[in-house]
Amino acid sequence: MSKIIASAAIRGAHKIVERVENKIKEAIDQYGPDKEVAYPNTAYYLPIIYGILGRKVEKLGDMPPIIEYCKQLLPEVPAEDLWIPYLGPALDAGMATLFAYDMEEALKYVDPDKCPYLPGGTEWIDPASDNIWLGAADDVIMRKRGVEFVDGSAPGFAAVVGAPPDVETAVKLAKEMQEKYLYVFMASDHNGVNMAEQLKEAGVQLGWDTRLVPFGKDTSAAIHALGFATRAAMSFGGAKPGDYRKVLLYNKNRIFAFVLALGTVTDEWYAAAAGAINYGFPTIADSDIPEILPYGVCTYEHVVSNVPHDKIVSKAIEVRGLKIVIKKVDVPVSYGPAFEGERIGKDAMRIEMGGPKAPAFEFCEMKDLDEIEDNKIEVIGKEIDEYERGVTIPFAIWVQVAGRKFQKDFEPIIERQFHHLINQAEGVLHIGQRDILWMRISDKAYEAGFKFKHIGQILHDKLHQEFGAIIDKVQVKIYTEEEKVKELLEKARAVYHERDNRLAGMKDEEVDTFYSCTLCQSFAPNHVCVITPERPGLCGAYNMLDCKAAYEINPTGPNQPLPKGEVVDPVKGRWEKIDEFIYTASHNAVEYACAYSIMDNPMTSCGCFEAIAVVLPMCNAIMVVDRDYTGDTPCGMRFSTLAGTVGGGIQTPGFVGISKLYILSKKFISAEGGLKRLAWLPKALKEFLVENGLQKRCEEEGVPDLVDKIATEEDCTTEEELYEWMQKVGHPALEMEPLM
Ligand code: SF4
Ligand code: ZN
Repeated sequence: MSKIIASAAIRGAHKIVERVENKIKEAIDQYGPDKEVAYPNTAYYLPIIYGILGRKVEKLGDMPPIIEYCKQLLPEVPAEDLWIPYLGPALDAGMATLFAYDMEEALKYVDPDKCPYLPGGTEWIDPASDNIWLGAADDVIMRKRGVEFVDGSAPGFAAVVGAPPDVETAVKLAKEMQEKYLYVFMASDHNGVNMAEQLKEAGVQLGWDTRLVPFGKDTSAAIHALGFATRAAMSFGGAKPGDYRKVLLYNKNRIFAFVLALGTVTDEWYAAAAGAINYGFPTIADSDIPEILPYGVCTYEHVVSNVPHDKIVSKAIEVRGLKIVIKKVDVPVSYGPAFEGERIGKDAMRIEMGGPKAPAFEFCEMKDLDEIEDNKIEVIGKEIDEYERGVTIPFAIWVQVAGRKFQKDFEPIIERQFHHLINQAEGVLHIGQRDILWMRISDKAYEAGFKFKHIGQILHDKLHQEFGAIIDKVQVKIYTEEEKVKELLEKARAVYHERDNRLAGMKDEEVDTFYSCTLCQSFAPNHVCVITPERPGLCGAYNMLDCKAAYEINPTGPNQPLPKGEVVDPVKGRWEKIDEFIYTASHNAVEYACAYSIMDNPMTSCGCFEAIAVVLPMCNAIMVVDRDYTGDTPCGMRFSTLAGTVGGGIQTPGFVGISKLYILSKKFISAEGGLKRLAWLPKALKEFLVENGLQKRCEEEGVPDLVDKIATEEDCTTEEELYEWMQKVGHPALEMEPLM
């Protein structure tokens, strides 16, 4: 190991630990040792300290012992010319740095008025906002984004410290990383500038949605990248707090991350880089610093220096041992998942299609092979350049597909892909599906030459790439004439209706085969979803027909047909063969699961549940909270905390992860009396359910006035208050059989 790096990293670590020790002392003097300290909405405390050491920092008074531990870890600063052939002392100094940084950043949250960061749940940064710094992400973001690292939609992240020499280089680097699907985490500064500030100056959209995430301007803010990685290991990798070996190995093997050091490498940067090496994350620098080349902790080299900016991303990817396959789409704008979350405001909009002001829809139709011509894309009506800027127009995307193995059942599944496929084009916004389509195309995309026909091109190219097994031909027609759009819309609506009825008419009792989904075993290894006609997967993405089609598209995939066998318990929802399947597929971890019960061996929950149902013992009722609601709930836990308790592929009686639409199923916790038990929902979820037929379901259950008796956060947020509310309105659950 290079002597200079060892001494610089150790020197830097000494400085950091001393500084943080002083800050802790000052904070304790000011607020007292019992003052609470926490990152917003997380079940993982200060994640590095919790993940690696298994210790919870909850109050300021918990910090001094950790600082003492850091001091013990710190090696003596070696003489500059002392040759150290191994990494050990620098790695220890690096770890001490990370613990200290974790506390230094948490201290920023002690006084909310002085906190330099945007709220913890912020995903999208308003371009008009002066403050772009996000600090620690909450658990909702961590789970949502962490899943992408597990399912492969994001290979990893680049932790960028400092800034390249100019705005132009910053934009190029960011785009290159976005196109390679990487998240870009930004912290620290070089000559007073951070790369995120350069991007903002160039009008580039920042935030989790575009994968360009500015954590903070201090070097300590880089800790949020490693904090994210540590939480991912605990949440998805099954690492227990304190199982440092598993946390670090999970990251080395599963999260492809690296540090890009842009600018003068200070002692602090060296110390932080040494910390990152513990995770297997190498550092690539644009300046001329000593390298650490031999293999050891990281897969290949540890520190590589003096890399020119146009090579630095590919060098980093090579050094980290990452393989990225980029499939090209033939359009004049950038294309990739990083552009999926981009928004287009009115000011930046060239044209708008559909939405509240004009009819629009999209539709997928099966054709015979000889009826259509592959890659034939037509725009029927005016093209984008024939409209004035800023108008809203009617729009229809009519896609015809053919393939020897294609079936009519696949139409809705292919149609549902349009959303993310189209959204991945830079400067193209796609919201909704079916006949609630709403799209915008930005000025920038228009200036780059993007036309309506390119929407067809995207669908053609991507459907071939992703569904080559079932699709041989794709032909696309785009309509912009109002009359034609309206005429075709009627046809499409009739088909939408038909599709809905097919599933709505199916009952669990009437089929002899259910379907499995084990997709989430990639991160919750013992989790199994059993999907029945009346019980969709907890993520909301798979109903029974989806599973059936997925099985036919990929017969060896995660969705398999499950013959039910003899009924074991018709009320709780148990069948002989399903019990057996769950036992085997969960690697003998789950003996059986009751499809319709929340109390007796409920189904396991992985982590992608749209909502969580929770028993409220005092109220003899249940509540449901969904992912979008971040406030307090009557069970005393917010969604993020609940998610941490319930997830991971285990059964937790009294709690179950569910999809939102399952609440409207006749089999919704029917073992415990079903819908009549429901006493509390977040307001937005209640509205969503009302739009989808809650009133009708209440009538079917014989409680037509139930909708008004279900409280929301506007009525109460504690169990005591809810109990009073239920008495006041005469909620039926109070009269039901005791739940426990
Ligand atoms: Fe499949 Fe269940 Fe995961 Fe959804 S939550 S992807 S249904 S295993
Ligand atoms: Zn899942």
